[in-house]
Order: sequence, then structure tokens, then C-alpha cells
Amino acid sequence: MSAEKTAISPTRAQDFPEWYQQVIKAADLAENSETRGCMVIKPWGYGIWELIQQQLDRRFKATGHQNAYFPLLIPLAYLEKEAEHAEGFATECAVVTHHRLEAVKDPVTGKTKMIPSGELAEPYVIRPTSETIIGAAFARWVESYRDLPLLINQWANVMRWEMRPRLFLRTAEFLWQEGHTAHETKEEAIDETRLMHGQYEEFLRDHLAIPVIPGEKTENERFPGADMTLTVEAMVQDKKAIQAGTSHYLGQNFSKAQNISFTGRDGTVQHAHTTSWGVSTRMIGTIIMAHSDDDGLVLPPRVATQQIVILPITPKEDTRQAVLDACQALASTLRNQSYQGDALRVHVDTRDLNGGVKKWEWIKKGVPIRIEIGPRDIETRKVCVQRRDQAVSEKQFSEKDEFIQRASDILGEIHNNLLARATAFRDENITVCDDLETFHAHWEKENPGWLYTPWAGTPEQEEVLSKQHKITIRCLPIDGVKLPATGGKCILTGGETTVRALWGRSY
Ligand code: AMP
Repeated sequence: MSAEKTAISPTRAQDFPEWYQQVIKAADLAENSETRGCMVIKPWGYGIWELIQQQLDRRFKATGHQNAYFPLLIPLAYLEKEAEHAEGFATECAVVTHHRLEAVKDPVTGKTKMIPSGELAEPYVIRPTSETIIGAAFARWVESYRDLPLLINQWANVMRWEMRPRLFLRTAEFLWQEGHTAHETKEEAIDETRLMHGQYEEFLRDHLAIPVIPGEKTENERFPGADMTLTVEAMVQDKKAIQAGTSHYLGQNFSKAQNISFTGRDGTVQHAHTTSWGVSTRMIGTIIMAHSDDDGLVLPPRVATQQIVILPITPKEDTRQAVLDACQALASTLRNQSYQGDALRVHVDTRDLNGGVKKWEWIKKGVPIRIEIGPRDIETRKVCVQRRDQAVSEKQFSEKDEFIQRASDILGEIHNNLLARATAFRDENITVCDDLETFHAHWEKENPGWLYTPWAGTPEQEEVLSKQHKITIRCLPIDGVKLPATGGKCILTGGETTVRALWGRSY
């Protein structure tokens, strides 16, 4: 028996990493560039980023934050101020050392070469993250407790010289937002760290249909220079974890290094408590790996570049114009409808191409709803509706007016379906483990999923287990996360503990 033909080859089961690359290619989302580790984000992919950006930005503003912009190049001396931070990023920094190019002609070949010249006395680091340069500005902006809190966000690109890049998930240059805030007290700063962590969890669930486990990173996995790192961890279809976003409480580490000080209510000079939090274009990679199938991309409706694509079926020249007109009229009406507060994004594909070719292109691009309209449908006032969350062969004929009324509800159903599917998959692949023998054996399996264990080990013991099995503690889930009950004794030390750890392989 031959395997069922799929639009993407290999399938997820055959070779997940290669399937991922092929989905990106087939959906025309992005491509590798000649700049090492960097990608070109194509319009269909960039459209997803723009929607993520718009929708997150609304949340940031609604929680009191303002956008600002800081320089790309950071004076080296700034990074030297916070030792742990500098050390954490040291191996990933691109450094600007020259400010000119000189044209030099090769006397033999006659070719002109451009040689860097004009060496800088003080090199600059291309920002891997902006705590240091934003902290320097905060130090200038804050004088009194009345200037606090400072609640700033920046939309920017950053650069980390990643050794093993992968499109969207880990690139040398990536797009992100980085929130940076300064507060009068520790409690306020921790509340802010938790608030934004909660915003990320909600955003991933309600906008991207990705159920994450929110939790705290262990000391080994914390952001360099942070006192506490909160993370949202997503499980994708090969059962690996993706750290989809982080929110850090930085204590007074950066404010002391950079002198973000203020006169407090009691007249004494104090150091602010700072936070930072970020999500990046990695979220697009997470969407792809969480939802897509062997026919290509599957987009959650809220961030689909187009939500509905209308395909005119024009078999005969004499009815062609009438069909095109009906399609455009339907598109206009639908654009007046809204889903989750935004006007529906509707596209009519009028290209002179074979219908099957067009239809498969949109399937591979992950458009949530496809509509076909032919000459007969105009007479019967019907439309043929196909959904990306259902089998390709499935179609429903619907009264046109009824479809217009229901379009936004159908998008909602697709979202709920994707979320339910991803949640069921995640829950099936988190296993409770209470003993060390089972723990060791688990990681011998192919695609082992995550283990949930009682844990009281030291950072050194954690590192030994991590290296031995190529795993990490993804997080210590926060209170209130619904996970099955475990025993109370640490799998390694046997000591009584209330701490629970979630272990897994990750991207
Ligand atoms: P961090 O500042 O290290 O906490 O990073 C903030 C977020 O950016 C992380 O939670 C990741 O989701 C994302 N991120 C980190 N490194 C990369 C990278 N090389 N490419 C894409 N996204 C990244």
C-alpha cells in the first residue's frame, strides 16, 4: 500500500526538522540569506509578525507601557559594568571596530577591494539585548521616587552570534520587543515581571492558539544578571519545548551597576528595581511547529496574514466576469465584518492559474478559510467553504448570506480547535515521574516528551542530569498550573520537596 500523498515531503513523522524547513519554503514565509545565520522574512511571514506586533502592542499600552527607541550600538564599557550579564553574552556578541572602508586596488588582478579602516578607540557591541543602554538612559531620567515607575518598551532588532541557527527559532539577527521597567520597590518590580509573564501566556493562548506552561527558570537557566526569570514553554509536535517568551526580575543588579538611583519617600538615595521582558520572531517558528501539518502551514486566525481567500471558479469565458464581480462583492462585504476587534482580512485570488494549483498554494500557506465561487453558485446564492483545520476533502456548501453572518464565528471555531488539539497533544506527552530509574530510561525513547518530577537537587546535580540526557529543566511551573499530581520526594536526592520540575529537550 502506498503512503497517502502529502503536499509537504518529508512528513512530520519522517523527518521533523526537514519538514519544518519545507513548510517555510512552501508557504513562502522566509529564506536563509547570505549573511551568516540571518534570514530574509518574506511578505507572507512578515505579515504574521506585523499582526503579532500590533496585537501585543495594544496589550502593552493597555498595561501602561510606552514605546521608545535606543541605539543599535552599545559602548563596550556599558557591557563591562554588570559582570554576570557581560559574561553571559560574551560568546554571542558582534563587535563594531571600524568606521570606514578604504578602496584598495590589487596591482595584479586590477580588482578593487574594500578594506575596513579607521579603527575605533572604543569598540561598539551590536545590541544582543538593551538592558545596559536603556539602563544608562534610565539613570539620567530618574531622580526622585516621583519619576517611577518607568514603563518602556522597544520594538527592535537584536543580534546574537548563534552557532546553530534555524529559521525563526534561532537566528543571529532577530526582531523582538524588549520591555524595560524601573520601580521603587522589589514588590512592584516582581508584580510587573509577573504581569507581563501573564500577558505572554494569554497572548500565546488567545491569539496564537498555543497552550504554554508558565513557570520559573532554575538558577542554571536564568537570564544573565537576573534574580528571577519567568518563562512560557510551548510543546511542539515532535514533543520538544520552545521557550516562547521570558520576563525577568533583575533586582538591583543593573541599577547598581548603572546607578539608576533616586531619592526615596524618606529622603534617602536608593537604587531602583528593574525588569525586562521579551518575545521575538521565534513565535512564528513556534506557530509553525505547533499547528502545521503534512500539507503545510496552519495559521491561527488572529495572526493569519489573510484569513479568508476567495477563489473564483471560471470555467467559461461568458460567465467569467460575473463570477469575478460576485467574488469582489463578497470580499467587500466580509471586510466590513470583524473578528476579535479587527476587520476581516480577505483576499480574492484573481490570478489566471489552474484552480487546483491556486487552491494548494493557499492550503500550503495556511489560510484558515477558503471559499470557492463558480457560475452556478451565483444563481443559487451559495458558497463552498473549506477550512484549514479540517481535511482537504471536506467542504460545506453554505448560503452566502449565512456565511457572511457566520464568518467570524467560524474563525473562532478554528482557533478553538487548534488550541484544543495542541492542548490535548501537550497533556498526552507530559508524564509524571517519581523515580530515578524511570527518569533515566525515559530519555532513551525517540521523541520522549516531557517529564514532571518532584525536585530538590542542586544546580550542579541539575547540570549533570542535563548533560547526561541532553535535557533541561524547562521550568518550575507556577502555582495554579493544572498538571497531574506527583509524589513528594525528589527523584534524585529522595528529600521531601514541594518543588516540581518539568524536564524536556528543546529547540
Ligand atoms: P532573552 O532576552 O534571552 O530572555 O530572550 C527573550 C526571548 O527572545 C526568548 O524568550 C526567546 O523567545 C527569544 N530569543 C532568544 N534568542 C533568540 C534567537 N537567537 N532567535 C530568535 N528568538 C530568540
